[in-house]
Amino acid sequence: MNYFLLTALVLLFASSLCHAREIALTFDDAPTPDSALMTGAERTRKLIDILVKAKVPDTLFFVKADYINKDTQQRLEQYAAAGFHLANHSYSHQSASELGLLDYPADVYKAHLLLKSQKNFLPYHRFPYLHYGKDLAAIIALQQSLTDLGYKDGYVTIDNFDWYISSLLTKAAEDKKTLNYDNARKFYVDTLYESIEFYDAIAKKTLGRSPRHVMLLHENDAAALFVGDLIAHLRAKGWKIITPQKAYEDPIARNFPNTVFHKQGRVAAIANSKGVPESELRHPSENEQYLDQAFAKAGVLVDL
Ligand SMILES: [Zn+2]
Repeated sequence: MNYFLLTALVLLFASSLCHAREIALTFDDAPTPDSALMTGAERTRKLIDILVKAKVPDTLFFVKADYINKDTQQRLEQYAAAGFHLANHSYSHQSASELGLLDYPADVYKAHLLLKSQKNFLPYHRFPYLHYGKDLAAIIALQQSLTDLGYKDGYVTIDNFDWYISSLLTKAAEDKKTLNYDNARKFYVDTLYESIEFYDAIAKKTLGRSPRHVMLLHENDAAALFVGDLIAHLRAKGWKIITPQKAYEDPIARNFPNTVFHKQGRVAAIANSKGVPESELRHPSENEQYLDQAFAKAGVLVDL
Protein backbone atom coordinates (compact mmCIF):
# COMPACT_ATOMS: atom_id res chain seq x y z
CA MET A 1 0.00 0.00 0.00
CA ASN A 2 1.49 3.36 -0.88
CA TYR A 3 2.09 6.01 1.74
CA PHE A 4 -0.59 8.43 0.49
CA LEU A 5 -3.29 5.80 0.41
CA LEU A 6 -2.33 4.70 3.92
CA THR A 7 -2.44 8.32 5.16
CA ALA A 8 -5.85 8.82 3.53
CA LEU A 9 -7.18 5.67 5.20
CA VAL A 10 -5.82 6.70 8.61
CA LEU A 11 -7.43 10.14 8.25
CA LEU A 12 -10.71 8.59 7.18
CA PHE A 13 -10.64 6.26 10.18
CA ALA A 14 -9.76 9.13 12.54
CA SER A 15 -12.59 11.30 11.21
CA SER A 16 -15.07 8.44 11.55
CA LEU A 17 -13.98 8.16 15.21
CA CYS A 18 -14.48 11.90 15.72
CA HIS A 19 -18.00 11.63 14.43
CA ALA A 20 -19.02 8.59 16.44
CA ARG A 21 -22.28 9.31 18.14
CA GLU A 22 -21.92 9.07 21.93
CA ILE A 23 -24.15 7.63 24.62
CA ALA A 24 -23.91 6.93 28.35
CA LEU A 25 -25.91 4.24 30.14
CA THR A 26 -27.77 4.86 33.40
CA PHE A 27 -29.83 2.44 35.51
CA ASP A 28 -32.71 3.60 37.72
CA ASP A 29 -34.35 2.10 40.81
CA ALA A 30 -31.33 0.15 42.10
CA PRO A 31 -31.19 -2.03 44.17
CA THR A 32 -34.40 -3.67 42.86
CA PRO A 33 -36.00 -6.59 44.78
CA ASP A 34 -35.94 -10.31 43.86
CA SER A 35 -38.20 -11.41 40.99
CA ALA A 36 -39.52 -14.69 39.55
CA LEU A 37 -36.60 -14.64 37.07
CA MET A 38 -33.69 -13.94 39.41
CA THR A 39 -32.74 -12.68 42.84
CA GLY A 40 -31.56 -9.14 43.25
CA ALA A 41 -28.08 -10.43 44.11
CA GLU A 42 -27.99 -12.40 40.83
CA ARG A 43 -29.19 -9.36 38.91
CA THR A 44 -26.33 -7.26 40.27
CA ARG A 45 -23.74 -9.97 39.54
CA LYS A 46 -24.99 -10.39 35.96
CA LEU A 47 -25.03 -6.63 35.29
CA ILE A 48 -21.51 -6.13 36.64
CA ASP A 49 -20.26 -9.10 34.65
CA ILE A 50 -21.78 -7.76 31.40
CA LEU A 51 -20.63 -4.16 31.89
CA VAL A 52 -17.08 -5.16 32.85
CA LYS A 53 -16.76 -7.65 29.99
CA ALA A 54 -18.09 -5.08 27.51
CA LYS A 55 -15.55 -2.55 28.86
CA VAL A 56 -18.25 0.05 29.54
CA PRO A 57 -16.17 2.91 31.00
CA ASP A 58 -18.73 3.84 33.69
CA THR A 59 -22.45 3.93 34.40
CA LEU A 60 -24.62 5.63 37.00
CA PHE A 61 -26.99 3.62 39.18
CA PHE A 62 -29.74 5.95 40.41
CA VAL A 63 -30.63 4.53 43.83
CA LYS A 64 -34.13 4.35 45.27
CA ALA A 65 -32.91 4.72 48.81
CA ASP A 66 -35.75 2.98 50.64
CA TYR A 67 -34.63 -0.23 48.88
CA ILE A 68 -31.37 -0.10 50.86
CA ASN A 69 -31.08 -2.73 53.60
CA LYS A 70 -28.32 -4.95 54.96
CA ASP A 71 -28.40 -7.28 51.92
CA THR A 72 -28.89 -4.72 49.19
CA GLN A 73 -26.19 -2.49 50.69
CA GLN A 74 -23.71 -5.15 49.56
CA ARG A 75 -24.98 -4.80 45.99
CA LEU A 76 -24.33 -1.05 46.01
CA GLU A 77 -20.83 -1.78 47.31
CA GLN A 78 -20.31 -4.31 44.49
CA TYR A 79 -21.24 -1.72 41.84
CA ALA A 80 -18.83 0.76 43.40
CA ALA A 81 -16.06 -1.85 43.72
CA ALA A 82 -16.45 -2.59 39.99
CA GLY A 83 -15.83 1.12 39.30
CA PHE A 84 -19.42 2.22 38.62
CA HIS A 85 -21.08 5.18 40.33
CA LEU A 86 -24.21 5.75 42.43
CA ALA A 87 -26.63 8.70 42.40
CA ASN A 88 -29.88 9.86 44.02
CA HIS A 89 -33.31 8.76 42.73
CA SER A 90 -35.13 9.95 45.91
CA TYR A 91 -36.04 7.91 48.99
CA SER A 92 -39.60 6.74 48.32
CA HIS A 93 -39.89 7.20 44.53
CA GLN A 94 -42.93 9.47 44.50
CA SER A 95 -43.90 11.98 41.84
CA ALA A 96 -42.44 15.44 42.54
CA SER A 97 -45.54 16.85 40.83
CA GLU A 98 -47.66 15.33 43.61
CA LEU A 99 -45.33 15.71 46.60
CA GLY A 100 -44.68 19.38 45.94
CA LEU A 101 -42.11 21.98 46.92
CA LEU A 102 -41.50 21.00 50.55
CA ASP A 103 -42.05 17.25 50.70
CA TYR A 104 -40.18 16.33 47.53
CA PRO A 105 -36.83 17.94 48.50
CA ALA A 106 -37.27 16.40 51.98
CA ASP A 107 -37.59 12.96 50.35
CA VAL A 108 -34.43 13.59 48.28
CA TYR A 109 -32.58 14.74 51.40
CA LYS A 110 -33.64 11.57 53.26
CA ALA A 111 -32.04 9.59 50.42
CA HIS A 112 -29.00 11.88 50.51
CA LEU A 113 -28.31 10.96 54.14
CA LEU A 114 -28.10 7.28 53.13
CA LEU A 115 -26.08 7.92 49.96
CA LYS A 116 -23.58 10.67 50.77
CA SER A 117 -21.05 8.34 52.41
CA GLN A 118 -21.39 5.50 49.88
CA LYS A 119 -18.25 4.79 47.92
CA ASN A 120 -18.44 6.24 44.37
CA PHE A 121 -21.48 8.39 45.10
CA LEU A 122 -21.92 11.33 42.70
CA PRO A 123 -24.35 14.21 43.40
CA TYR A 124 -26.70 13.71 40.46
CA HIS A 125 -30.44 13.51 41.07
CA ARG A 126 -33.09 12.00 38.80
CA PHE A 127 -36.82 12.57 39.28
CA PRO A 128 -38.96 9.40 39.52
CA TYR A 129 -41.15 9.11 36.38
CA LEU A 130 -39.21 12.16 35.07
CA HIS A 131 -41.82 14.29 36.85
CA TYR A 132 -40.07 17.63 37.35
CA GLY A 133 -42.97 19.44 39.09
CA LYS A 134 -46.64 20.29 38.58
CA ASP A 135 -46.17 23.58 36.71
CA LEU A 136 -43.37 25.84 35.48
CA ALA A 137 -43.11 27.77 38.77
CA ALA A 138 -42.85 24.51 40.73
CA ILE A 139 -40.30 23.09 38.27
CA ILE A 140 -38.06 26.15 38.64
CA ALA A 141 -38.43 26.15 42.45
CA LEU A 142 -37.56 22.42 42.65
CA GLN A 143 -34.49 22.94 40.43
CA GLN A 144 -33.34 25.60 42.92
CA SER A 145 -33.99 23.32 45.93
CA LEU A 146 -31.93 20.54 44.35
CA THR A 147 -29.11 22.94 43.50
CA ASP A 148 -29.21 24.11 47.14
CA LEU A 149 -28.83 20.47 48.21
CA GLY A 150 -25.72 20.29 46.01
CA TYR A 151 -27.25 18.26 43.20
CA LYS A 152 -27.01 18.42 39.42
CA ASP A 153 -29.90 17.32 37.21
CA GLY A 154 -29.48 13.67 36.19
CA TYR A 155 -31.56 14.15 33.06
CA VAL A 156 -31.99 11.55 30.31
CA THR A 157 -32.10 12.17 26.57
CA ILE A 158 -33.35 8.72 25.54
CA ASP A 159 -36.66 7.76 27.13
CA ASN A 160 -38.21 4.31 26.63
CA PHE A 161 -40.36 1.69 28.36
CA ASP A 162 -37.61 -0.84 29.24
CA TRP A 163 -39.33 -1.21 32.63
CA TYR A 164 -42.48 -2.48 30.92
CA ILE A 165 -40.58 -4.92 28.68
CA SER A 166 -38.91 -6.28 31.80
CA SER A 167 -42.27 -6.58 33.60
CA LEU A 168 -43.63 -8.65 30.67
CA LEU A 169 -40.68 -11.06 30.99
CA THR A 170 -41.02 -11.30 34.77
CA LYS A 171 -44.78 -11.82 34.51
CA ALA A 172 -44.20 -14.68 32.04
CA ALA A 173 -41.86 -16.32 34.56
CA GLU A 174 -44.44 -15.84 37.34
CA ASP A 175 -47.05 -17.52 35.12
CA LYS A 176 -44.59 -20.41 34.51
CA LYS A 177 -44.49 -19.67 30.78
CA THR A 178 -41.45 -20.63 28.72
CA LEU A 179 -39.46 -17.80 27.17
CA ASN A 180 -37.74 -17.87 23.81
CA TYR A 181 -34.64 -15.96 24.86
CA ASP A 182 -33.43 -15.26 21.30
CA ASN A 183 -36.74 -13.61 20.40
CA ALA A 184 -36.81 -11.77 23.74
CA ARG A 185 -33.28 -10.47 23.14
CA LYS A 186 -34.17 -9.22 19.65
CA PHE A 187 -37.35 -7.58 20.94
CA TYR A 188 -35.45 -5.75 23.71
CA VAL A 189 -32.57 -4.60 21.49
CA ASP A 190 -34.74 -3.56 18.52
CA THR A 191 -37.30 -1.69 20.64
CA LEU A 192 -34.69 0.22 22.64
CA TYR A 193 -32.51 0.94 19.61
CA GLU A 194 -35.52 2.47 17.82
CA SER A 195 -36.00 4.86 20.75
CA ILE A 196 -32.32 5.85 20.57
CA GLU A 197 -32.55 6.70 16.86
CA PHE A 198 -35.89 8.46 17.44
CA TYR A 199 -34.55 10.89 20.08
CA ASP A 200 -31.26 11.35 18.20
CA ALA A 201 -33.23 12.38 15.09
CA ILE A 202 -35.17 14.94 17.20
CA ALA A 203 -31.85 16.21 18.58
CA LYS A 204 -30.34 16.64 15.11
CA LYS A 205 -33.42 18.54 13.95
CA THR A 206 -33.60 20.71 17.07
CA LEU A 207 -29.94 21.25 17.96
CA GLY A 208 -28.39 20.66 14.55
CA ARG A 209 -26.17 17.96 16.04
CA SER A 210 -26.14 14.69 17.93
CA PRO A 211 -25.50 15.51 21.60
CA ARG A 212 -23.80 13.27 24.13
CA HIS A 213 -26.79 11.13 25.02
CA VAL A 214 -27.90 9.74 28.37
CA MET A 215 -29.92 6.55 28.08
CA LEU A 216 -32.59 5.73 30.64
CA LEU A 217 -32.50 2.08 31.65
CA HIS A 218 -33.52 0.31 34.85
CA GLU A 219 -31.66 -2.12 37.07
CA ASN A 220 -34.10 -4.83 36.01
CA ASP A 221 -34.21 -8.41 34.71
CA ALA A 222 -34.32 -7.38 31.04
CA ALA A 223 -31.11 -5.35 31.46
CA ALA A 224 -29.40 -8.19 33.35
CA LEU A 225 -30.26 -10.52 30.47
CA PHE A 226 -29.81 -8.36 27.39
CA VAL A 227 -28.02 -5.06 27.97
CA GLY A 228 -24.79 -6.63 26.69
CA ASP A 229 -26.55 -7.28 23.38
CA LEU A 230 -27.80 -3.70 23.28
CA ILE A 231 -24.22 -2.45 23.87
CA ALA A 232 -22.88 -4.70 21.07
CA HIS A 233 -25.65 -3.46 18.74
CA LEU A 234 -24.90 0.20 19.54
CA ARG A 235 -21.21 -0.31 18.80
CA ALA A 236 -21.98 -2.17 15.58
CA LYS A 237 -24.01 0.88 14.51
CA GLY A 238 -21.02 3.14 15.19
CA TRP A 239 -21.95 4.46 18.64
CA LYS A 240 -19.39 5.01 21.38
CA ILE A 241 -20.30 4.24 25.00
CA ILE A 242 -19.08 7.10 27.21
CA THR A 243 -19.22 7.85 30.93
CA PRO A 244 -22.27 9.66 32.30
CA GLN A 245 -19.96 12.37 33.68
CA LYS A 246 -18.74 13.05 30.14
CA ALA A 247 -22.31 13.00 28.77
CA TYR A 248 -23.33 15.59 31.37
CA GLU A 249 -20.61 17.94 30.05
CA ASP A 250 -22.67 18.42 26.88
CA PRO A 251 -23.95 22.02 26.46
CA ILE A 252 -27.55 20.74 26.83
CA ALA A 253 -26.73 20.13 30.52
CA ARG A 254 -26.57 23.92 30.92
CA ASN A 255 -29.66 24.53 28.79
CA PHE A 256 -32.61 23.91 31.12
CA PRO A 257 -35.62 24.31 28.84
CA ASN A 258 -38.44 26.61 29.78
CA THR A 259 -41.27 24.09 29.50
CA VAL A 260 -43.44 21.90 31.71
CA PHE A 261 -42.83 18.99 29.34
CA HIS A 262 -39.90 17.01 30.77
CA LYS A 263 -41.20 13.46 30.98
CA GLN A 264 -39.71 12.33 27.65
CA GLY A 265 -36.25 13.63 28.54
CA ARG A 266 -34.05 16.68 27.88
CA VAL A 267 -33.90 16.54 24.06
CA ALA A 268 -37.70 16.29 23.83
CA ALA A 269 -38.03 19.11 26.40
CA ILE A 270 -35.75 21.40 24.38
CA ALA A 271 -37.67 20.57 21.18
CA ASN A 272 -40.96 21.30 22.97
CA SER A 273 -39.64 24.63 24.27
CA LYS A 274 -38.93 25.51 20.62
CA GLY A 275 -42.51 24.76 19.58
CA VAL A 276 -42.51 21.06 18.62
CA PRO A 277 -45.82 19.58 19.88
CA GLU A 278 -45.71 16.87 22.57
CA SER A 279 -47.42 14.40 20.24
CA GLU A 280 -44.29 14.32 18.03
CA LEU A 281 -41.91 13.79 20.94
CA ARG A 282 -42.92 10.39 22.19
CA HIS A 283 -41.97 7.14 20.44
CA PRO A 284 -44.93 4.76 19.81
CA SER A 285 -43.20 2.06 21.89
CA GLU A 286 -43.60 4.24 25.00
CA ASN A 287 -47.03 2.70 25.41
CA GLU A 288 -48.13 -0.45 27.23
CA GLN A 289 -50.74 -1.60 24.66
CA TYR A 290 -48.26 -1.12 21.81
CA LEU A 291 -45.68 -3.20 23.66
CA ASP A 292 -48.22 -5.92 24.59
CA GLN A 293 -48.98 -6.40 20.89
CA ALA A 294 -45.36 -6.17 19.76
CA PHE A 295 -44.34 -8.64 22.49
CA ALA A 296 -46.98 -11.15 21.33
CA LYS A 297 -45.90 -10.72 17.70
CA ALA A 298 -42.20 -11.12 18.53
CA GLY A 299 -42.74 -14.72 19.67
CA VAL A 300 -41.16 -14.20 23.07
CA LEU A 301 -43.46 -16.75 24.73
CA VAL A 302 -43.16 -20.35 23.59
CA ASP A 303 -46.48 -22.07 22.85
CA LEU A 304 -46.26 -25.56 24.32
ZN1 LIG B 1 -37.50 5.18 38.96
